[in-house]
Amino acid sequence: MPSHIVVPAVHKLTPDVAKLFAEHYHTDPNDDDPQSLAWSQRLAARPVILAADAGMTGGNFVVAETGSFVVCTNEGNADLSATVPGLHIATLGIERLVPRMADLGVFVRMLSRSALGSPITQYTTHFRGPQDGGEMHVVLVDNGRSHRLGMEDFWTSLKCIRCGACMNTCPVYRRSGGLSYGAVYSGPIGAIIDPTFNERKYSTLPFASTMNGSCTNVCPVRINIHDQLYKWRRVLAEHHELPFVKREVMNMAGRLMGQPKLYRAAISGTETALGVLPRFALYNWLNPWGKNRELPHPVKQTFHSWYKQNRLKTKKKGEDA
Ligand code: SF4
Repeated sequence: MPSHIVVPAVHKLTPDVAKLFAEHYHTDPNDDDPQSLAWSQRLAARPVILAADAGMTGGNFVVAETGSFVVCTNEGNADLSATVPGLHIATLGIERLVPRMADLGVFVRMLSRSALGSPITQYTTHFRGPQDGGEMHVVLVDNGRSHRLGMEDFWTSLKCIRCGACMNTCPVYRRSGGLSYGAVYSGPIGAIIDPTFNERKYSTLPFASTMNGSCTNVCPVRINIHDQLYKWRRVLAEHHELPFVKREVMNMAGRLMGQPKLYRAAISGTETALGVLPRFALYNWLNPWGKNRELPHPVKQTFHSWYKQNRLKTKKKGEDA
C-alpha cells in the first residue's frame, strides 16, 4: 500500500530500503547510502525495462484542445516506461481533463508548488501520440467518478490534483502515517474519497479528523475538505454504517463531554493509563492508528490543570490586590 499520494514509500527509511534490496537484488544489506541504493535500483530495473514489450504510465492532466496528456515525475521512471518499449498504455482518470493548453500551465505549476514547493517537477512530459512505429493506448478510467459527480455534497473532491498538501498539514496523518487509513488514498482527501467507493469499509475515516480546517486552507483547488468530512459523518450515521464500537464510543464521549468534572477525571485517568499500559494493550489489530507509528507520549499536565495552577492563581491575586 502507498502511504502518500506523491511519495508512496515515504514511510521507509534508507536502512529499510537497503534490507529490501538485499532481499530482492542481493545487494549489501548494510549499505544504506542513498547514492549506491539508487545505482542498485538502476542496475536492477533497466534490463527489465529494456526487455519489456509494453510500458504503463498514468497521467496527471489531459488537454481537451489537443488530445495530449502530461505525466509529471521527479525520477523519470514514467518516461522510460513510456518511450523504451514499443507499446505505451496510459491510464487516465476522467477528472484529469483540462480545457486548453493555456490552462495546463496553471495546473502544472500549482501541482508542483503544492506537492514539493518547487516551481516545476523534474520531468514534465507531454504525450501526443505513439512514437514512430509504436503503439499507444489510452484508457480513460471512471471507477466511480461519474457516480461521485452526482453527489451534491461530495462532487468537488473530483477537483483534486493529488498534490498531497492536505496530508502534509494534517495532524492526524502526520501522527499516524498513511498506512493507518487502510486505503490507497489516505489523509484528509482519502477520508472523503474512500467512502464513495465503499461506505461500510471506510466508515471510520471521516472521524479521523480534528476538524481544524488546515486541509481546506492549504488545498490549491479550494476543496472544502473539512466541511465534507463533517457531512460524511452525518451521512454515514444516517446510513447506519458506523461500526458498533464506534457508535458506542461516540455515545460515551457525548455523555462524558456533557459533564466537565467527569470528562477531566477521564482524561487524567487515560493519560495515566497510557503511561503504564503494556504495549500489546495499545498496539494490536484493534488499533489501526498505532500500526505504523508510536503513539505520542502522554503529557505530564493537561492545559486545563496548568491554567488552573498558574493563571487562575495570578488572576485571583490581582483581584485581591
Ligand atoms: S485535496 Fe487539495 S490539497 Fe489534498 S491532495 Fe487534493 S488538491 Fe492537494
